[in-house]
Amino acid sequence: MKVTVRAYAKINLMLDILSKLDNGYHDLFMLMQSVGLYDTVCVEKTDSNQIEITCDVPDIPCDERNIAYKAAAAFFEGTEAENCGIRIHIEKKIPHAAGLAGGSADGAAVIVALNKLFGTELSEKDIIRIGAKVGADVPFCALGGTMLAQYTGTVLSHLPDLSQKYVVIVKPDQDVSTGKAYAAFDTAERVRHLDTKGMLLSAVNDDWNGISERVGNVFEQFIEVADRAVIKAVMRRHGCLCCCMSGSGPSIFGIFSDKAQAEECLSELKKDYDSSFICVTADTGCELV
Ligand code: ATP
Repeated sequence: MKVTVRAYAKINLMLDILSKLDNGYHDLFMLMQSVGLYDTVCVEKTDSNQIEITCDVPDIPCDERNIAYKAAAAFFEGTEAENCGIRIHIEKKIPHAAGLAGGSADGAAVIVALNKLFGTELSEKDIIRIGAKVGADVPFCALGGTMLAQYTGTVLSHLPDLSQKYVVIVKPDQDVSTGKAYAAFDTAERVRHLDTKGMLLSAVNDDWNGISERVGNVFEQFIEVADRAVIKAVMRRHGCLCCCMSGSGPSIFGIFSDKAQAEECLSELKKDYDSSFICVTADTGCELV
């Protein structure tokens, strides 16, 4: 039997760092939203005794460095299921190292697929426990929709689904270092924090005007994305409700109510940025197909 899962990307409608914790981690406040840009992850049993990975994108490592591999190892460690061998194939559409949790989405999809393949009937708590061992974004990616993520990102609260919007995403051709971004936060003299309470209230009330007024990412104060202002200006000119950087960047997203405006925005951005996408907000992180 082969199980296929759509692994959806995420955007951060809000990302604030409240403080640095004594254990070295950062205390986060993130309003997470799944979006309909997805990788396809197929998992099947073999008799190789190995975790084998193939991927259609050449520069993604297909060994134990792959987040999908780590997720499979964590699944077998955290359940009674016996690994006699599995093969994972990943078809990537989510750009990697983009702030869209592409790798975490694949890891989450593997946990969801193995749960189905091995009939382990994991509870949500089990999925969070196993996912958190793999990476901070993995539990959210397994559950998805609209959620408040706190602490390192692994303390999750379900929020009501927001009404659906169109999302234009651009990944400028630039690498960012998440480690350096946190280091910049740690040494910053001043940090402008965001209206987290107002954001939560707006999200709970499905108030996109309130969300749009408050959308924000504290990393924008520390990470230089060369074309950020240009991309945002195009999104605003095409009538987006709001626009912001996702995760530690460099991807920029714009939220639109109107499909035609979103499509026009995409076609303008596509001329300069190959890695540009349009999708809708999604109410799940992983979907069995
Ligand atoms: P986040 O938003 O959680 O910070 P990201 O979008 O910045 O995530 P990923 O797409 O998760 O970053 O990739 C980060 C790194 O992980 C890449 O450099 C890549 O080589 C490695 N990686 C390992 N497994 C995968 C995978 N399945 N898909 C993408 N990248 C992977």
